[in-house]
Amino acid sequence: MIDYVYYKNKDKELDLMKAALYKNSRVVEVEEIKKPEIKDNEALTKIKYTGICGTDIHIHEGLHPRTKAPLVMGHEISGYY
Ligand SMILES: [Zn+2]
Repeated sequence: MIDYVYYKNKDKELDLMKAALYKNSRVVEVEEIKKPEIKDNEALTKIKYTGICGTDIHIHEGLHPRTKAPLVMGHEISGYY
C-alpha cells in the first residue's frame, strides 16, 4: 500500500517518486511528487517495503488528531540508499 518508487523523469529532468497520499478521511491516492531534497548530514532512502500500523489506520479513518492532508503515508519502512 505504501511504496515509494524513485526514478528519473528524463523528459522533465525532475526527480520524482510515487507516494501514497492521505487526502481526506478514507481517501488515499498514489501520486507522483518531487523527491525530497536532503542536507549533507542526511540520507535519502529508497523504500522497498512499508508496513501498516495502528497509527496508519487512524490516519486513514480520519481519526488522528495531528494529521493534516496531504500527508505522505508510511512510517514503518525498510529500504536502502
Ligand atoms: Zn507506526
